[in-house]
Amino acid sequence: MRSVEEHLGAALSLVGPGPVETVDVVDCLGRVLGRDVVAAIDLPPWDNSAMDGYAVLVADLLTGPAPDGLVRAVCTDIAAGDGREVRVPPGQVARIMTGAPMPAGADAVIPVEWTDGGVQVVDLGRVPEPGANVRRRGEDVRSGQRVLAAGSRIGPAQVGLAAAVGLGQVAVHRRPRVAVLSTGSELVPPGTPLGRGQIFDSNGPQLAAAVTAAGAEVVRTAHVPDEADAVMRLLDECAEDADLVLTSGGVSAGAYDVVKEALLARGGVEFCQVAMQPGKPQGLGSLGTVPVVTLPGNPVSVFVSFEVFVRPMIRTMLGATQVQRPWVEAVVGSPLRSPAGRRQFVRGKLGSDGPRRTVTVIGGPGSHLLGSLSQSDALISVPADEEHCSAGDVVTVIDLTENGR
Ligand code: AMP
Ligand code: MG
Repeated sequence: MRSVEEHLGAALSLVGPGPVETVDVVDCLGRVLGRDVVAAIDLPPWDNSAMDGYAVLVADLLTGPAPDGLVRAVCTDIAAGDGREVRVPPGQVARIMTGAPMPAGADAVIPVEWTDGGVQVVDLGRVPEPGANVRRRGEDVRSGQRVLAAGSRIGPAQVGLAAAVGLGQVAVHRRPRVAVLSTGSELVPPGTPLGRGQIFDSNGPQLAAAVTAAGAEVVRTAHVPDEADAVMRLLDECAEDADLVLTSGGVSAGAYDVVKEALLARGGVEFCQVAMQPGKPQGLGSLGTVPVVTLPGNPVSVFVSFEVFVRPMIRTMLGATQVQRPWVEAVVGSPLRSPAGRRQFVRGKLGSDGPRRTVTVIGGPGSHLLGSLSQSDALISVPADEEHCSAGDVVTVIDLTENGR
């Protein structure tokens, strides 16, 4: 049997970062940058007011006429978007709004709250420090500066920055196009009547959702009965317009395990047993040049094997540097038994006990137990050489709510 690490290594060796394409900045959320983003402008692009108030020359206020204190004539209003070149004459001030360009002849902004709010004449209230409430050109970002690095993941803040420096489009790695094939003569699509001996195809929708959640694009979902010719025909069709083909079912040692049968006859895909539970029977290889992963049929095996092997492949294709979700430590609430020599992935629910992170075991080890899977948000990873954990032990957990960078 192969270890989980060996199989993951083999899976990752089949893929690399996808080609770089340019996409509109509004559509690049979750993508990974294919090239550095270099600012072509300063941010802010020019000195501007951080407050609604009055633009003043501080030195001028200190030498102003004594009887009037800080009462000054307002020479003009400057609103955000005002493109005029304004100069404030000595002894006067300008009423200015947040984000409006600082006029010449002023070096600070007095917030309107300090003043009587006058429109033609204003009592300014207090003298500010020079530079107060002025946002300086380039204090955030300098023109020519690398503001986002190739390989970094784009979140909302990065979208905002790219837009702020004026980029309508950014260069990102293409989203892998993934085809999902469910195999099994017992399967019917959800939403249709269920006959005797039939079950609904849940792996197809589950895998499609997992592919989408990982940031890739589902280009095709299909279902095929356990007939080797039909399976091979569909696999070939899937490989035509996909960067990655995923199948579920038909890879164990049973008589009608036709995915294995068909692909062993064709070649290019290796079938093996991985020392894990669930998810022991696995297949990995290529259809022509397109990587293919054949997952076992049980829904929890599909979930766990996708998480452990396929998601890191997709993340690699997306160009991500951190391809795994963060693994965290938590105190387990109840004892656990795990099979000797196999890494067990146990469904769990994360919580906290004061500052300590806790994890509660959810459901049993059966790999058909979708009900309890849907109640869990974590996978406890029990190493192959550990056969039991006691309540209160610290265990390693994959937090399924954390997407990673
Ligand atoms: P197999 O690996 O094909 O022998 O399938 C193992 C178990 O998973 C069987 O109980 C199948 O009925 C079930 N199974 C296979 N494919 C699916 C699917 N697409 N949706 C739900 N259950 C499935
Ligand atoms: Mg089957």
